[in-house]
Amino acid sequence: MAEENEEVKTFKDLGLAESLVEACEKLGWKTPLKIQAEAIPLALGGKDVIGLAQTGSGKTGAFALPILHALLDAPRPKDFFACVLSPTRELAIQIAEQFEALGSEIGVKCAVLVGGIDMVQQTIKIAKQPHIIVGTPGRVLDHLKHTKGFSFSRLKYLVLDEADRLLNEDFEESLNEILQMIPRERRTFLFSATMTKKVQKLQRVCLRNPVKIEASSKYSTVDTLKQQYRFLPAKHKDCYLVYILTEMAGSTSMVFTRTCDATRLLALILRNLGLKAIPINGHMSQSKRLGALNKFKSGECNILLCTDVASRGLDIPTVDMVINYDIPTNSKDYIHRVGRTARAGRSGVAISLVNQYELEWYIQIEKLIGKKLPEYPSQEEEVLLLEERVSEAKRLATTKMKETGGKKKRRGEEDNDGEDIDKYLGLKDGKSSKKFRRR
Ligand code: AMP
Repeated sequence: MAEENEEVKTFKDLGLAESLVEACEKLGWKTPLKIQAEAIPLALGGKDVIGLAQTGSGKTGAFALPILHALLDAPRPKDFFACVLSPTRELAIQIAEQFEALGSEIGVKCAVLVGGIDMVQQTIKIAKQPHIIVGTPGRVLDHLKHTKGFSFSRLKYLVLDEADRLLNEDFEESLNEILQMIPRERRTFLFSATMTKKVQKLQRVCLRNPVKIEASSKYSTVDTLKQQYRFLPAKHKDCYLVYILTEMAGSTSMVFTRTCDATRLLALILRNLGLKAIPINGHMSQSKRLGALNKFKSGECNILLCTDVASRGLDIPTVDMVINYDIPTNSKDYIHRVGRTARAGRSGVAISLVNQYELEWYIQIEKLIGKKLPEYPSQEEEVLLLEERVSEAKRLATTKMKETGGKKKRRGEEDNDGEDIDKYLGLKDGKSSKKFRRR
């Protein structure tokens, strides 16, 4: 396929309506990205499409543009025309934002149906007869069952985004129920970063003669990404983290940890050292997550400490560096994490801090990406000059965590404890953000 697209195409060449071409220009999208150049003509030609694409490849545009093109041509009524199912609330919100930005010229209406947000507000949105529904499977199903007047009986397009993650045990049942409620006569687009057995099964059930396209080879990482590792003893990790972040001062970074508590502790340590860090993790309430994300997006904080919950989907276009503070035990998570940088042709750095216990996992990662990575060059003596300051910052952070945030949450419980620590971490309610107040 790539050979056929050797000439640089424009959005107009792909056959999109003039108003959509203009919308792309307004967003600064000069030429289609590879996945868009391949998927859009197929989708406009009425094909079901499977896209193997990572976050950052431009996959949202690849499905949103043909849907909007079809919406323009569709006879009335046009409500509940397309549904996009996504595994996370943040991703759903970002997808809806892209639909709204691309469809601004044609007055597209979207509703975001995700958990953690008032059902009544969403019901009001549904009553306005939106064209596009974007949501997480559980909440979409809830509305399909309980909200009067809401049905997918006329649905024309279904998108399963990050299908591999949609098929985890939390969603599988809801997803299957939703599929029963959708007309057979429809187009389906399935996007997934990885092709698991479950995704293949879903593809067989859900898609008709689909065309498969790949934004990049299965587990490869992009060429503009500089990847490095550093072997170090566990006790020196914090020091190295601070060293790297200071060396790259002024850049935007995402630091990945294994646990939610670690995001908070590290954010406190870094803040104690005067760095602008903010945590985001699955234990935080939805509004706090959005608040944290906004602070990062607006540049108020340039370091985001996160768990893998945040490793996919979030539309953060300007990450210069990804640091794997903890090495992921599942190597595919590595691909998703580093996919946060070096996006849309830009350059980026990914550094993995590997301690004596994580070697095995790191070796698996190198196997998966099919290359041996170079070592992050630094003089240990120079790094350890920071040791005293980092230890003191850690001591203060640990005391603060014990004082304020020590209460363990039960599963599914939102974080109403530890308010003090949240204030200290600069975590405010996402609702106060202008950008998100609209929905
Ligand atoms: P996605 O993979 O859909 O999350 O998109 C990743 C980022 O690329 C988003 O910030 C988009 O706004 C941006 N993007 C998508 N398509 C293009 C394009 N054709 N040119 C430049 N940027 C794009």
